[in-house]
Amino acid sequence: KAKQAGRNTLCFFDPDLQASVARRMSLEADMRAGLRKNQFFAVYQPQVNHEQQVFAVEALIRWNHPARGIVSPGEFIPVAESSGLILALGQWMLREACRQLVEWQRVPELAHLTVAVNVSARQFHHPDFVEQVLLALDETGADPKKLKLELTESLLLDDVEAVIGRMTALKAHGVSFSLDDFGTGYSSLAYLKKLPLDQLKIDQSFVREVVSAANDAAITHAIIGMAKSLGLSVIAEGVEEEAQRAYLAKQGCHAFQGYLFGRPVRAEELREVFATFFTD
Ligand code: C2E
Ligand code: MG
Ligand code: MG
Ligand code: MG
Repeated sequence: KAKQAGRNTLCFFDPDLQASVARRMSLEADMRAGLRKNQFFAVYQPQVNHEQQVFAVEALIRWNHPARGIVSPGEFIPVAESSGLILALGQWMLREACRQLVEWQRVPELAHLTVAVNVSARQFHHPDFVEQVLLALDETGADPKKLKLELTESLLLDDVEAVIGRMTALKAHGVSFSLDDFGTGYSSLAYLKKLPLDQLKIDQSFVREVVSAANDAAITHAIIGMAKSLGLSVIAEGVEEEAQRAYLAKQGCHAFQGYLFGRPVRAEELREVFATFFTD
């Protein structure tokens, strides 16, 4: 295997590697075609507050591949990142979420919703990123105050001043920011405090066993405390059981997202999710 042969050795005849390169290339070509043919769509997952009211939704991308069926973003986002296709995909998602926001304005029980959109590192660091977000807002007529962008810690490792500049420019328009998968990255506390963030999102890996594993409980406790002292809101992702919700709530976390409250669904189905919430 190339790996065992060492970093400086090229191995042209590794059948596994060849297969994975081929797969990657066909995925890339399929993605390009998929964008043209409208095979991508968004699903939305509720985020609830301490009173279990839905105050926001996270937009998550899905791909309806003609041969493979629904492909999950874990499979194609990394390929989109490395090929640069993420720029087109990310822009599509931003517009889609903004368009949806405007549509929800006409539905009384959905009009208050904020939508959270995931932004990948390459997308964020593109020189036109700020303009592209403003363009999506402008062209759809969406309210920037209802748009939240989810960034990951890895994205912040680069030029901190540039990151702050971009965030500040968008915040001036009312856009807010959440730090996704928090706790899994490498952000130092020193610059966490410099970033104009609004929310920390506790990664689901800490939530999974928060009730039974003392070290996970210690981490969530620390994150919640840190968020509070930095003046940020905090949300836990991957909440599947009432016991997890109750435990985190006791620690002071007041916003939650996870299968306990609803799976990601198409916009058309979101009204039904709300209906079940309000009749419970
Ligand atoms: P993420 O942003 O951390 O999103 C949360 C993931 O956890 C989603 O997976 C969601 O479906 C899943 N999830 C939600 N509740 C639960 C739960 O209770 N239990 C478990 N086990 N999982 C839960 P999904 O939709 O497959 O997305 C995976 C990742 O792909 C996302 O992680 C995000 O990093 C990325 N992604 C998704 N959509 C986009 C997009 O439009 N743009 C970019 N750049 N990345 C995206
Ligand atoms: Mg996210
Ligand atoms: Mg996350
Ligand atoms: Mg995650």
